[in-house]
Amino acid sequence: MYEGVVQDLIDELGRLPGVGPKSAQRIAFHLLQADPVDVRRLADVLVEVKQKVRFCKVCFNVSEEETCRICRDPRRDPSVLCVVEEYKDVVAIEKTREYRGRYHVLGGAISPIDGVGPDQLRIKELMSRLGDSQITEVILATDPNLEGEATATYLTRQLGPFGLKVTRLASGLPVGGDLEYADEVTLGRAFAGRREA
Ligand SMILES: [Zn+2]
Repeated sequence: MYEGVVQDLIDELGRLPGVGPKSAQRIAFHLLQADPVDVRRLADVLVEVKQKVRFCKVCFNVSEEETCRICRDPRRDPSVLCVVEEYKDVVAIEKTREYRGRYHVLGGAISPIDGVGPDQLRIKELMSRLGDSQITEVILATDPNLEGEATATYLTRQLGPFGLKVTRLASGLPVGGDLEYADEVTLGRAFAGRREA
């Protein structure tokens, strides 16, 4: 244990995902020895990102404006909606250049162990978007793991009454992983080969 503010810094860093106690300590000491200008820049960008970045009010992608770049783009196909867990999945799919429709970011996946049920996700918002008659296909692009599968199964059931085409990404994605870990070619192929759920 260190004194006062140094320990506070280690504690705060240790709360970040993927940063264990040892790493937190190493980063803290790096910052203590770093040039004050560099540390100031880091502090500023942390504050700025929370002030500037918000979520798109339509699809919940990250955005610096009310609606995101993709929702604002008139060249995107309004008839296809791709449902993903996190905004980082949007980035992964965009990289494939295989998809020209729009997105809906759920904000996670159904996981009873973690206390995440359908109500904690943006499923209500998804349903109200589907009232928009322009959408004819919904692609479920949740992660190829247990939670992602559970979420896709739940959504397939919920989407039934809408009479839309509901598709899932083709197999071939690394099972158990995150969508973002699939390479662009594999993910692109999974998109092109999507099948009806
Ligand atoms: Zn959007």
